[in-house]
Amino acid sequence: MNTHDVIVIGGGTGGYSTALRAAALGLDVALVERDKVGGTCLHRGCVPSKAMLHAAELVDGIAEARERWGVKASLDGVDWPALVATRDDIVARNHRGVEAHLAHAGVTVLRGSARLTGPRSVRVDGGPALTARRGIVLATGSRPRTLPGLDPDGRRVVTSDDALFAPGLPASVLVLGGGAIGVEYASFHRSMGAEVTLVEAADRIVPLEDADVSRHLTRGLRKRGVDVRAGARLLDAEILGDGVRARVRTARGETVAVHAERLLVAVGRVPVTDGLDLGAAGLGTDGRGHVVPADWDRLETAVPGVHVVGDLLPPPSPGLAHASFAEGLLVAETLAGVPSAPVDYAAVPRVTYSAPGTAAVGLSEAEARARGHEPAVNVMPLTAVAKGMVHGQGGMVKVVAEAGGGRVLGVHLVGPHVSEMIAESQLIVGWDAEPADVARHVHAHPTLSEAVGEAFLTLAGRGLHQQ
Ligand SMILES: Cc1cc2nc3c(=O)[nH]c(=O)nc-3n(C[C@H](O)[C@H](O)[C@H](O)COP(=O)(O)OP(=O)(O)OC[C@H]3O[C@@H](n4cnc5c(N)ncnc54)[C@H](O)[C@@H]3O)c2cc1C
Repeated sequence: MNTHDVIVIGGGTGGYSTALRAAALGLDVALVERDKVGGTCLHRGCVPSKAMLHAAELVDGIAEARERWGVKASLDGVDWPALVATRDDIVARNHRGVEAHLAHAGVTVLRGSARLTGPRSVRVDGGPALTARRGIVLATGSRPRTLPGLDPDGRRVVTSDDALFAPGLPASVLVLGGGAIGVEYASFHRSMGAEVTLVEAADRIVPLEDADVSRHLTRGLRKRGVDVRAGARLLDAEILGDGVRARVRTARGETVAVHAERLLVAVGRVPVTDGLDLGAAGLGTDGRGHVVPADWDRLETAVPGVHVVGDLLPPPSPGLAHASFAEGLLVAETLAGVPSAPVDYAAVPRVTYSAPGTAAVGLSEAEARARGHEPAVNVMPLTAVAKGMVHGQGGMVKVVAEAGGGRVLGVHLVGPHVSEMIAESQLIVGWDAEPADVARHVHAHPTLSEAVGEAFLTLAGRGLHQQ
């Protein structure tokens, strides 16, 4: 009863995927979760934010219908409680689905906080010791990072968690942090009619992406009225009754005052290990709070049988839900003794679901050069194909490949629907395809993904619509 083959701590995407796969392989699995299974992604991350961004797309569509297509449509306003109700219904249905999958798989779900008492033992809320025959999987995830002196009060200074549960939509927002989460929230609030300032300390937003992605995204957001300030720093922020008055040092060294109803802090996430007592299992964290695997091919720590998945891992694990699914499969299969390939982090797609959106897989041009390549690069505007013109939102396809017709190293997309378009590129990069291999395959016309096909045709010397 108190002994299982595998004990998984944390029921987010990393933990529940491990549990489902391990149970499917015949192992007796216990999953400990102190909040709700589904974790950050389902309750505070991917799913609710993308539901809200879908509503934002509908709002933007009304303006486009009126301004470009002669459709006599107008927006009466956004009923925030109604939007929240639909979003929360989607989350609740997904949540019931995850619970049902776990029950169906025969996973024992234990509610409470788990604490390690040894390399193979765990206590849940001071209950009896639980023992793992094969191993323990740490999947405790992450929480929003905050900045000293900027304590979120959930009303005027908020994190991405608070933004979901706010009582209404603000008229103005200062978003601090130009990574994926900051950009998505900036885009959402702009669609909802807010004045939005986006401040990023690095010299460009989405700084981990190819420089052309940052450039096109910045252009697209500015066109929509977002005040994008890269290379800028928040000097201080004063909390007022009706919002926040902040001082920002711009890239040019000027100090500007920004008054916003809400300051959304999106400066990254930190791993969660509080109350876990890693030391009891002989484990610790790196300087940033991550648990580092000794063996990345098995995601196993230096303590045999203790594995890590999800946001608790340091880079190259990217802190994305789909990467944590892959990590869960790998760890479950490893614990079950089934052969399993290591996660190919280089081929994990990265998406920002803003308007315009970004999606990328593989190396940026700068990364390719840093690794000694003299890459062949093709940047093609999305408007070079008919469907790109229909959408009229600009954007681009950028392909980075080894010179001389060698393998494709990276694909970078900016524009509408790129989150759906990236799938073929991840296979192209993951399967080490060359531009000529892709160019052989006919893309449907007229589609946005035709632009990906065209970009490869050009690189293979057979371009049709790119000058
Ligand atoms: C706003 C936002 C948008 C995002 N959008 C995307 C996206 O579009 N696509 C994408 O791929 N990723 C996205 N992410 C990232 C994604 O949510 C995370 O990468 C993913 O949730 C990580 O999963 P995890 O299992 O490692 O951790 P989590 O989902 O954080 O789960 C950890 C779980 O462990 C539990 N726990 C912690 N400690 C204990 C303990 N001691 N005992 C018991 N339980 C414990 C917690 O309650 C939690 O449920 C987004 C994140 C945010 C914040």
